[in-house]
Amino acid sequence: MSLLKPDIYAAKITDITLSMLSDNGIKGLLLDIDNTSAKRKVHEPMEGFENWLQEMKQNSIQIMFLSNANPKRVRPFAEKIGLPFYYFTCKPFPLRILLAAKRLGVPVKHIALVGDQIFTDIIGGNLSFMKTVLVDPIELEDGLNYKIKRYLERKIMKNFKKSS
Ligand SMILES: [Mg+2]
Repeated sequence: MSLLKPDIYAAKITDITLSMLSDNGIKGLLLDIDNTSAKRKVHEPMEGFENWLQEMKQNSIQIMFLSNANPKRVRPFAEKIGLPFYYFTCKPFPLRILLAAKRLGVPVKHIALVGDQIFTDIIGGNLSFMKTVLVDPIELEDGLNYKIKRYLERKIMKNFKKSS
């Protein structure tokens, strides 16, 4: 198993379907916020998110937010949507990811970590023995750091798509 490899790829979070989850034995989701559930610095979730969330909840999928961002960003966002949350998670380090899993009440092998970044979300999920779902970032960030990361992620995803 490669730590860099997601189990599932979806263009956006609202493209994740119940059958994708059941095919992979997934009963719980830990959702990244920035660029996965909402644009960065935007307080509303992306279009269609709340309908998608309702469908997941109605089918007993356990869900919480798991963000590396600060409480000022995470708390009001998560409370407005009505989901439990962890901030300052330090993804990809497994400690707080595993604490979140415990709080979710679902065994790790039945949880998927969903996010837009291979180097935090996907590695973090894999290190925690979870499934992983990679989504495209809602919008591309500026800055050299991000450009380098995105470049590497594109290369990895190209190989992934070729081999699956
Ligand atoms: Mg993100």
